[in-house]
Amino acid sequence: VTTRGGGRAAGLVALILLAGCATTRVGRLGTLPDDQALVTLVVTEDRQVVLEECQGALAFGRVLGCQKTQGHRLPDGVLVRTMKIVRYTDALPSPLAFEIDLHELCHAIAALQAIEDPCHSDGGLVREAASNRRSLR
Ligand SMILES: [Zn+2]
Repeated sequence: VTTRGGGRAAGLVALILLAGCATTRVGRLGTLPDDQALVTLVVTEDRQVVLEECQGALAFGRVLGCQKTQGHRLPDGVLVRTMKIVRYTDALPSPLAFEIDLHELCHAIAALQAIEDPCHSDGGLVREAASNRRSLR
């Protein structure tokens, strides 16, 4: 499921998937020059989502989360690693808390690489509501 439209304004996508009463939040942030998202965050109350997303990931015992990285060569030749983090939760974060996690995670992943930080490509704003915006750093 995606709500991503054309253009850079769609750099941050946060949506909720409903599966029975268990809920999943999915967000992508940090659009790179090759249109990949630097970070994808999946937080879910549904263990099945974790099991499916984490197939093939290195894990020990009960799988409650995982991360996957992938290397991309940008048009300017720089190598960048994108990251997908999947984790189970027993209490889903609010949409605002989820966006803040996603935003700061994006900065952390960008800071560890030789790339220009793409996390503000959408303006770096948390969109709580159309008329009520909060700025993050
Ligand atoms: Zn920021």
